[in-house]
Amino acid sequence: MAELVSPSGILPRIPDDLTLAQFVLDAEHVRRPIRKNGAWIVDDQSGRKIGLEELRARTYGLANALSIRYNIQEDDVVLIYSPNHIDYLVATWAAHKLGAAVSGANPLFTVDELVYQVSTVKAAVIITHPDSLKVALSSAHAAGVSADRIILFDVEDADTAQRLTLQALISQGLASAPNFIERKLAPGEGKTKVAFLNFSSGTTGRPKAVAIPHYSPIANVIQLATHHKVGKEYAEQRFKPGDVCCAVLPLYHIYGLVFNAHFAFFCGMTVVLTAKYDFLDFLKSIIRHHITHLMLVPPQLVLLCKHPAVKSYDFSHIRYVTSGAAPLSREVMEQLVRIFPNADLGQSYGLTETGPVISSWALDKRRDLSGGTGQLLPGIIARVEKPDGTLADFDEPGELIVKTQALALGYANNLEATKETFVNGWLRTGDEVTMNRKGEIVVLDRLKEMLKVRGFQVAPAELEGCILDHPDVTDTCVVGIQDEYSGELPLAFVTLRPEATKRVKDSPSAADEIKASIMKHVADNKIGYKKLAGGVEIIDVIPKNPSGKLLRRVLRDKAREMRTKPKAKL
Ligand code: AMP
Repeated sequence: MAELVSPSGILPRIPDDLTLAQFVLDAEHVRRPIRKNGAWIVDDQSGRKIGLEELRARTYGLANALSIRYNIQEDDVVLIYSPNHIDYLVATWAAHKLGAAVSGANPLFTVDELVYQVSTVKAAVIITHPDSLKVALSSAHAAGVSADRIILFDVEDADTAQRLTLQALISQGLASAPNFIERKLAPGEGKTKVAFLNFSSGTTGRPKAVAIPHYSPIANVIQLATHHKVGKEYAEQRFKPGDVCCAVLPLYHIYGLVFNAHFAFFCGMTVVLTAKYDFLDFLKSIIRHHITHLMLVPPQLVLLCKHPAVKSYDFSHIRYVTSGAAPLSREVMEQLVRIFPNADLGQSYGLTETGPVISSWALDKRRDLSGGTGQLLPGIIARVEKPDGTLADFDEPGELIVKTQALALGYANNLEATKETFVNGWLRTGDEVTMNRKGEIVVLDRLKEMLKVRGFQVAPAELEGCILDHPDVTDTCVVGIQDEYSGELPLAFVTLRPEATKRVKDSPSAADEIKASIMKHVADNKIGYKKLAGGVEIIDVIPKNPSGKLLRRVLRDKAREMRTKPKAKL
């Protein structure tokens, strides 16, 4: 098989001279069904609605205030450390107006994790939620960012008296004379001007800042819209004005940011933003807001199949359900038909590095229950490479390598990792797939180290660094084991120092104590989903090749074997 050009449609021209803020708030010339009136965003909890004019005004006010008060300017980084908030995108677009980039962080990150991100991107200000303020303050201090550069999102009933809030800044910006000239891009500049620094561990190693230019999310929105023929004939549309989609997925991840928010706006949909995801509340809000479109991750769909509360709801009004970010089994897909009898149902697949969506099931199939992740989006060229470097045939497994308009620029300040993954305009996905003649992709496995726990990335190298700080450990290797709900769970193989090995020999309970202590060490230092919920296994030696490279696959296979035969010995 040679390279396959996606047969899904011809892409129109993608604007390369617009920032994402201009594309979504201002661009009159982009043909789209975007709505001038009506709610763009609804706050799930309070029901507060916000439309285009207010979004424009708030974005302008905040940009002006960030310029006046903090002198935010070209290539500065605004770090948002918060769950979804009605002003999250206002903060994003305000940064773009000033020529700055945005880096979103998980609001439950520990101090260590946040310090790493703040320092890597050299954040100029941190916008946070009152619940995350304590960690934000400690992290800012450790990373050398002054405490007065922390701004709070406004949250009802939260004590924000001691700190500047976004609302105060917006009011100040609106009341002051203009202090900035909106950043405009020269033709072609959208392809290089960085809009986001989102984190991904890529193929190997610790999380890295993926440099995503403005052109990338704009291209992905247009690829998705072309794939789904948005705006052609409303009656048959999957996505059209008046539809309501949920945004329970976080905006700090590119899937939520591009698919749930910017693509939805482009289609004229209303986005219901949920700050804190709780499954039972989520069921209620689907009904309360008459949500018609669900973009979710596998654990949420597994719960929809299994949770007894779901039986009391009628979801027959739901027209679209998609799963992304991690594998979803065919069995779960089949069960979902019962719960969403009238919905188009299938998967989407992509990576932070590809802007994100690469494939999604096509319009001519109402449902794709095959376990596949749908067809390549328009404009994408793909090939599948076998381990020996030759091209695989159609339907033959190998690594997926893609060329897409939505490709990121690389990993910021990390030439080596960039060179490994971004090769001559192609991206090595690190995913093992098969592809057929129609460009339909089935994801079989992950060839790269990265684990996905509940749709969140976990970098084994990051956990290994943490485990090596434990006083009893000399070496370690973290692998994933399968889990029905979480997808994967991290399991650590460890070797022990001689004193600890002696303790294990002398006392039957010592091994369990050491394992528990290693698990606690990780739990104390890392966010919840990185916990060693797959357990700890003590072994004599961590297998390595002659040049010292971890033979991760050997241990991964061993872990799988152990979990299917619990008594298996290493
Ligand atoms: P992220 O950059 O966090 O979006 O993670 C990208 C990785 O998530 C991909 O390389 C895949 O390994 C995995 N992934 C995303 N979508 C899917 C899917 N539909 N099925 C299987 N794996 C997926």
